[in-house]
Amino acid sequence: MPAVPRDSSPTPRRLLARLRRLMARATDLATRLDGLVHLVAGEFVAEVCSVYVMRPGEILELAATEGLRPEAVHRTRLRVGEGIVGTAAAEARPLNLPDAQNHPAFAYRPETGEEAYASMLAVPVLRGAEVLGVIAVQNRAPRRYAEDEVEALETVAMLLAEILHGAHPPAEEAVLSLPGAMARHYEGVGLTPGIALGPVVRHGRRSAPRTVLAEDPEAELGRLRAAARAMQRAVDAILEGPARRAGHEPREVLEAYRLIAADQGWLGRIEAVVRDGLTAEAAVERVLADLRARMRQVADPYLRERLADIEDLAGRLIDHLGGGAEADPVEGGFILIARRVGPAELLDYHARGLAGLVLEEGSPTAHATIIARALGLPLLAGCRGATDAAVPGELAVLDAEEGRLVLRPEAEIVAGYRAALAAREARRAAEAGLREAEPRTRDGVRLTVMINAGLLMDLPHLAATGADGIGLFRTEIAWLARGGLPDLETEEALYRDVLAAAGDKPVLFRTIDLGGDKLLPGFAHEREENPAMGWRSLRIGLDRPAMLRRQLRAMLGAAAGRRLSVMFPMVTTVEELRAAKALLAAELRAAERRGAAPAEVQAGAMLEVPALVWQLPALLEEAAFLSVGSNDLTQFLFAADRGNPRLAGRYDFLSAPVLDLLEQVGCAAAAAGVPVGLCGEAAARPLEALAVFGVGIPQISVPPASVPAVKAMVRSLDLTAFRTFLAGLRRSARGGASLRADIAAYARDHGIALE
Ligand code: PEP
Ligand code: MG
Repeated sequence: MPAVPRDSSPTPRRLLARLRRLMARATDLATRLDGLVHLVAGEFVAEVCSVYVMRPGEILELAATEGLRPEAVHRTRLRVGEGIVGTAAAEARPLNLPDAQNHPAFAYRPETGEEAYASMLAVPVLRGAEVLGVIAVQNRAPRRYAEDEVEALETVAMLLAEILHGAHPPAEEAVLSLPGAMARHYEGVGLTPGIALGPVVRHGRRSAPRTVLAEDPEAELGRLRAAARAMQRAVDAILEGPARRAGHEPREVLEAYRLIAADQGWLGRIEAVVRDGLTAEAAVERVLADLRARMRQVADPYLRERLADIEDLAGRLIDHLGGGAEADPVEGGFILIARRVGPAELLDYHARGLAGLVLEEGSPTAHATIIARALGLPLLAGCRGATDAAVPGELAVLDAEEGRLVLRPEAEIVAGYRAALAAREARRAAEAGLREAEPRTRDGVRLTVMINAGLLMDLPHLAATGADGIGLFRTEIAWLARGGLPDLETEEALYRDVLAAAGDKPVLFRTIDLGGDKLLPGFAHEREENPAMGWRSLRIGLDRPAMLRRQLRAMLGAAAGRRLSVMFPMVTTVEELRAAKALLAAELRAAERRGAAPAEVQAGAMLEVPALVWQLPALLEEAAFLSVGSNDLTQFLFAADRGNPRLAGRYDFLSAPVLDLLEQVGCAAAAAGVPVGLCGEAAARPLEALAVFGVGIPQISVPPASVPAVKAMVRSLDLTAFRTFLAGLRRSARGGASLRADIAAYARDHGIALE
């Protein structure tokens, strides 16, 4: 498309100066809008500029135009979502189209005469999350509007928001009563376990800036800089306290955040917009809107996390400018609902009595998740629309274990959860007594219950739960938390700390499992159609042997003089395991030459890819131990994305395909004398753990919070009798039907503790 010549682009400063003069001259809405479309069309060298205003019932009405037929004003109407204008409103983002008429959303309105115009730039007029209208420019010639034109029209849209809001401020009661009194249920993904019941606090609904155009840009710059300094001091103060007390990783997350707070790039862009004539508050919002639009195209979770940090900081900066966030009532034991939340904000809320967190966005490795886990807060993610539907102060139930959020819950639900919380409290007290108890069945079988870990802060759980060891240490989590590859010394120190905390108990170090949803900034991850089945995990390690060898070197160094167990993830062929072992052997020889080798080194494989099941004889000759990666194995077995909430309940782990496979692996490993366990999250609940033990896998590794309940289950179990029952049940099972109800009924009838 022909680029727009630079000298024809509107300069924001000139445009804003003219708009300011216009606003001073015209006072009624119609004259202001007419003047604005005329002025913008001239500045943009556009044949058309139109303003559409939101009417009740989500209708966008043409309110002023330069270039379209005047008789279309107040006649042409589009529903939100209809046409280009309706789409810009529905998606709350600009649409920049060189050939608008051939866009699938185009809706022809003959009264406008717009068939003559090929290109169109439509920008929503936003006030906070509310869409007040759309402003559009059109040109006869097909062209893509330049980036500075899009930004200039967004700036005009901010001013337009101020004009429209001033003309029709929404009735406060109408807005507040919108969500209604009915209960609303949301499904989400529990990222850290737990249940909370309490009043809602809604985060991140800032009110829009009161004024957009600055009277005196120099004075405005001074105000911005003073606020930025005050914000940086306040951020430093927040990060000092809790960051000192938390483990290494949150401190690194928070340091990254501190760097953004002082980042001259971000602040410099805000200053540039202030120089163009916007108020400091409006400039902060302008730059943020821009970043949001860019980030929409970015899939990398780590870059998206930077956006969460910046949103957090933008809110703070506006607070320091005196703008102020929506004042929500805050009481102890509250549930925070947010689109996303930054790490320092989360610490702030924690200090004020936060009981649980609901995010519309969020991922297992997000900064907020890492902090929430460190603070032991239940966290539910993926509840789209919850922020807008939540009413501050009203009651909500957050169940991160069942993946459920209920706003304004019915009385029975509240009563049910109150009882569950009380029972949980009582159980916690009883479970503390289980710490020293062995997971030995009533018929005398000693089973093994270990924990999954990945951060230093997970380690105290080993002693607290009395688990048998760390059955899965996810080494990539620390890399992800620090946002890059650690140096050898740091990595070796971390592994040494892990081994020291474990004492005599075994630790199975899993080599890096990057790729899939675990992307490291700066690492050459290419966009893949199916990342879970793509270039990830051991595949990356074998293609980047220097990186894998460095990690193995760190592990060997950390385990000097003691036993090291290394576990390779996503092994797909026995040849891959051999290749990985060869790298380990080379590093071991080097460690021996340095005189700092472990006393014993074991190399095992994770069984996550079903293809390995048909290589068991050769695999069991190569592997010192096997660990079934239950999350990935289940996803690959059922071809069901483990992160897709829509598929979460569709296929049951407690069904023949999984249980038959586990039994086959358990039998083959036992016959070969190779220890076998199951790790990941699948056996986190006592019922699933019961079935895993029942098919002959004697060792599991589960999240620490699951250990007491699993131990209690084991101690109430007659394994021999259960195995007989389970074998019969599986013989009579048809296809892939769930066996859950039958197993649960047996457990109930035989006094097996499942809660
Ligand atoms: C698994 O897949 O079960 C596993 C333990 O690995 P991940 O870290 O992928 O959950
Ligand atoms: Mg896995």
